[in-house]
Amino acid sequence: MKVKKNDMVVVTEGEYKSKTGKVLKVFLKKQTLIVEGVNFVKRHTKPTQTRQKGGILQKEAPISASNVMVWCANCARGVKVGLRVLPDGSKGRYCKRCGELLG
Ligand SMILES: [Zn+2]
Repeated sequence: MKVKKNDMVVVTEGEYKSKTGKVLKVFLKKQTLIVEGVNFVKRHTKPTQTRQKGGILQKEAPISASNVMVWCANCARGVKVGLRVLPDGSKGRYCKRCGELLG
């Protein structure tokens, strides 16, 4: 998976199409991720000792990694990401459109 935690991504499919957000969590095995502000689901919570009131909690649910593209600030759009070996031997990701390194 080429998307990492804290990446900015843009949603390419579904209800949240064209929305951008930061990746909060990546589930490698399931190939899904949680994007800030995307795919809210309502969860009913019961009152607990630490939280006085029960009620409805809005929380982001995971979406498929195939439904997002990494956001390139240089291109101002979602782009395909390539991998490149950097001079120090580590792998870096770059924008296939403009060549900008994405970190
Ligand atoms: Zn770019």
